[in-house]
Amino acid sequence: MERACVALISGGLDSALAAKLMLEQRLEVQGLFLSMSWGCCEKAKAQACAQQLGIPLMVLSVGDAYLDVLRAPKYGYGSGMNPCVDCRIYMFRIAKRYMEEVGAGFVVTGEVLGQRPMSQMRRPLDLIEAESGLEGLLLRPLSAQLLEPTLPELLGIVDRERLLNLAGRSRQEQFALAKAGGITEHSTPAGGCLLTDEHFAKKAKDLFANEEHPTTKDMELLTIGRHFRVAAHTKIIIGRNELENLMLEGHAQEGYTCLRPKFAGPAALVAGACAEEAKSLAVSLILRHTKEEKRPGGALSFWVNGSPWTTERQRRDVSQPASDAIKL
Ligand code: SF4
Repeated sequence: MERACVALISGGLDSALAAKLMLEQRLEVQGLFLSMSWGCCEKAKAQACAQQLGIPLMVLSVGDAYLDVLRAPKYGYGSGMNPCVDCRIYMFRIAKRYMEEVGAGFVVTGEVLGQRPMSQMRRPLDLIEAESGLEGLLLRPLSAQLLEPTLPELLGIVDRERLLNLAGRSRQEQFALAKAGGITEHSTPAGGCLLTDEHFAKKAKDLFANEEHPTTKDMELLTIGRHFRVAAHTKIIIGRNELENLMLEGHAQEGYTCLRPKFAGPAALVAGACAEEAKSLAVSLILRHTKEEKRPGGALSFWVNGSPWTTERQRRDVSQPASDAIKL
């Protein structure tokens, strides 16, 4: 077996410590960051962390196939829409393929026994190892002394005595190790996966309930603006600030229609079919989120996907603002 491993780097402290334990044993470490483009992990932190450790980092996207896992996870969801067991199996399968591609001998993660109820208890750890096809090749250095020895330990490539026996949710020992090892580039434990966030989960569940084949782009949009469901395949997103307005404008491609008012007001992106009704609802929602609503009637001018468009203010724009739109 090669004295080289692939270390999954998330940007958090635990994965950085796990990789450092390998470096201390003079193993070659190739970092791997698996990116969810809707911002579940912190790519910039992972890059800074790899740089501080002095290891190369490959960034790979989980891709649209991950959405099948999200739609129907074999092992269910956690508190939000987080399919943690299936998510890890999916990611570790990618790590296995990458390990084989770069000729490394095993995969290293920062998992800690008992730290997370869904995916880091002993049974799910074993299950994840087996289903990802990494049996004997998945080393969790922070808890290794509490787990069955892996192949690199049995072969003497990794010295088990120099691995750790951490367990549970306390992070005190990790903080002490980080301080002693000079590891400063990592995200705070309070950050985390958007899929566990109840508001994000609500929007994600709505997306999967209304779209047969959502894309990673649809998931990315869940991180921007206020979302309103107006029909089975149509949603309106209202920007909350200028940056979001610009981001919504950037999504004005096929299947998406962006209304940008020529008066002071937020951008609205219609995701899905944009018939007159949806456009009219978008106008209502824009008016609901601007002081313009309080002005007397008259024509309203917009850019619609970059082309000028003018409409008369409708009665319901003021009296029943967007009552057909469900806030997500
Ligand atoms: S918290 Fe999010 S990224 Fe982490 S395993 Fe669960 S679903 Fe995957």
